[in-house]
Amino acid sequence: MNPSVTGVHEECGVFGIYDIHGGDVAHSVYYGLSALQHRGQESCGIAVTDTNGPFGKVDCHRGLGLVNEVFHSHDIEKLHGNLGVGHVRYSTTGATTIENTQPLVLNYIKGTLCLAHNGNLVNAAELRQELEQTGALFTTTIDSEVIAYLIAKERINAPTAEEAVVKACGRLRGAYALVVSSPRKLMGIRDPYGLRPLCIGRRDDAWIIASESCAISSVGGTFIRDVEPGEIVSITPEGIQSYHLEAKPARAHCVFEYIYFARLDSKIDQISVYEARRLGGKILAREFPAEADLVAGVPDSGLTAAYGFAEASGIPFGMVFHKNSYVGRTFIKPTQEEREDSVKIKLNVIEPAVRGKRLVLVDDSIVRGTTMKNLIRDLKKAGALEVHVRISSPPFLYPCYFGTDVPGTNSLIAHQHSVEEIQKEIGADSLGYMTVDGLREIAGGLPICNACFTGKYPMEVPDHEIRDALESGCRHC
Ligand code: AMP
Repeated sequence: MNPSVTGVHEECGVFGIYDIHGGDVAHSVYYGLSALQHRGQESCGIAVTDTNGPFGKVDCHRGLGLVNEVFHSHDIEKLHGNLGVGHVRYSTTGATTIENTQPLVLNYIKGTLCLAHNGNLVNAAELRQELEQTGALFTTTIDSEVIAYLIAKERINAPTAEEAVVKACGRLRGAYALVVSSPRKLMGIRDPYGLRPLCIGRRDDAWIIASESCAISSVGGTFIRDVEPGEIVSITPEGIQSYHLEAKPARAHCVFEYIYFARLDSKIDQISVYEARRLGGKILAREFPAEADLVAGVPDSGLTAAYGFAEASGIPFGMVFHKNSYVGRTFIKPTQEEREDSVKIKLNVIEPAVRGKRLVLVDDSIVRGTTMKNLIRDLKKAGALEVHVRISSPPFLYPCYFGTDVPGTNSLIAHQHSVEEIQKEIGADSLGYMTVDGLREIAGGLPICNACFTGKYPMEVPDHEIRDALESGCRHC
């Protein structure tokens, strides 16, 4: 969804499965979504169709909360069908409503369309307005509904669902990884930049399409390949067919997937998330060495880079925090005060591990600076002599329009302050950020989108905020 339209930022996970031999798939979608839970904790849903049953009948269950909160065994038992689509959604503010949960299920003249979307469009507002002027009625505030509506509209005149998708996607600008089911088909679609991940797997007679490969292996499937940027894969009992969108811009894979967002056991566009993070730590050790007794990471997303730092520097790796896994992510708390409180609840210092030690503390990113400031205060209170902070991404300077939750520039600590000022503000003894060149190295030469660090967006973005930021000559440009 376009943040400028709704104030909602989304990071989602999508999963689809088609068992050609007719077995029920709802339980597999459940496990697939559980493996993608890190991509969205706000709401989730599953829609299933029986490809041998009544045309266009869909069983659907959606709700607000985690997968294991929304689905109980009796909910899964009610979902019958061999073609399923699932979604997990994350948004930080605004429209947390049941209407905005996915998959979207649309009944129209050609049957039923189920759609799950990860990413943000940058032209959703224009498209929505245009469609509304021709009589469209929208029941949600998410841009995914614009996509579903466009596909349904194109399908009326297109001979096949794939042609309708090609036409509809030709109108979209932005990031989209989609899983779509029509009454007899499963489709996976990835925007021409390849901004968000999407891959294909197989388990016996079932085909799987998922945001990340960890979801394929979690349901006992085998990873086959990534969906290519601009590709539409269509799965029917005859097998898998591939179609391509006309637009072929330069690829721009989101580098933040490797830094923070994706799961360690996933491989995206042939690069292991684990290896990318470990390499990030090694690069930091090379570029910003430190004299210290122990290297530690901020759980969970800083741990692998910390391990890489320790390997490259020869300084021992250790755990200095206990993480309480039963509280939500700090980021989803709306006010500063609530965020600070939840940081304390979530991570607690293991005092004997830090007392009298000089530490290197590694995290994947500093956004507002809240987490790091609190952690350093707690470490020093517990007796750490020095805390040298190393961050495995460059300073966050610009908003993301493509589906990663980065707050407005005014909330980004790096936008307001130089690195020296940030070091002082968070109370670190030294501070080193990954360079943009380092990012390219961790992505192994893959063409990446790093606009949240550089302001260089792969396509035109709508907001004046970014132009203002660039024109005012922010401190890091
Ligand atoms: P902050 O306290 O605002 O500086 O946020 C930094 C922390 O938030 C780091 O520990 C990151 O792992 C985490 N983080 C960074 N980006 C995101 C994101 N898009 N969604 C959720 N958490 C994030």
